[in-house]
Amino acid sequence: MKISRISVYQRALPLEHPYWLSGGRLKFEVLDATFVKIETDAGITGWGEGTPWGHTYVPAHGPGIRAGLETMAPFVLGLDPRRLLAVERAMDMALPGHLYAKSPIDMACWDIAGQAAGLPIADLMGGGSRTPRPIASSVGAKTIEDTRAAIDRYRQRGYIAHSVKIGGNVARDIARIRDVENIRREGEIVLYDVNRGWTRAQALQVMSATEDLNVMFEQPCETLDDIAALSGKHAAPVSVDEALVTLQDATRIARDGIAEIFGIKLNRVGGLTKAARMRDVALAHGIDMFVMATGGSVLADTEALHLAATIPDENCHAIWACQDMITAEIAGGRGPRNINGHLHLPETPGLGVHPDEDMLGDPVAVYT
Ligand code: MG
Repeated sequence: MKISRISVYQRALPLEHPYWLSGGRLKFEVLDATFVKIETDAGITGWGEGTPWGHTYVPAHGPGIRAGLETMAPFVLGLDPRRLLAVERAMDMALPGHLYAKSPIDMACWDIAGQAAGLPIADLMGGGSRTPRPIASSVGAKTIEDTRAAIDRYRQRGYIAHSVKIGGNVARDIARIRDVENIRREGEIVLYDVNRGWTRAQALQVMSATEDLNVMFEQPCETLDDIAALSGKHAAPVSVDEALVTLQDATRIARDGIAEIFGIKLNRVGGLTKAARMRDVALAHGIDMFVMATGGSVLADTEALHLAATIPDENCHAIWACQDMITAEIAGGRGPRNINGHLHLPETPGLGVHPDEDMLGDPVAVYT
């Protein structure tokens, strides 16, 4: 089987509400999504998606994905999409780095490999837990009252996992954490996501002042060096997501004891093939995981769900999915959707959901 054609689509995915990253630093209202259709000489077609969470969040942006695809396409055409490692090597040779541009091709090839094998991707990867995965909400509020209201709105949709965005004001952060812990229900999973918003001193202030609560923090400071400098000075479990980019990051975090949790963002790390290695590093070192779609449509959510289904249930806290935050519908309601705050693994071979092509417009590029 050979890759015979790669078609690239661009689609704006508007957010239901404008989104402010922790501390109100960064605002955006629409996601720039890139969809990739890979066709083969065997008649099997696979789909991938790359949707950065705005272009101000981490070094990734929609036009960069499309430029990267233009550079990599000639090296990927003609390869067997089921040989994921050969496709990965071809991309890494053609364009070192730029992991976020590679994930849509990796995803489409896994989709094809799954269809060819007659298995959902998670099963083909050797996992395939059918335990529904809780979806983590995104609570971007600033005041105590707004935070309560946002959590309530998600609870009404069945959510039991919440990513509460903090950072920017130490006193307010401490007050909001204490209030959320007061109203937290039995069985609810709450992650306090700082999105790199604290200095080292601010991180230690908040983490010390909330030590009695034993809460989880995500990405408290900008870099792994910063987060490493905090360890041993507080008792809180820490998740790293934005600074977990390469396999070398993962091994360093594990070896140096920088974090207790990986937040694996599939688009950020370059797709399922690379993410699976991080998963194995995590499992080998007693590190639990959140899996995150980074952003995007139901396709990106489904990719995250497949990886999550390859993680033992007890080591996978939740998945972060974007589907309840965007107003565009590109798959006619198909694919895994929020059912009482959870996503259920599709039984369809491959990814398990494809977009409606007429919702994507004409391709912006076709490579043959
Ligand atoms: Mg995060």
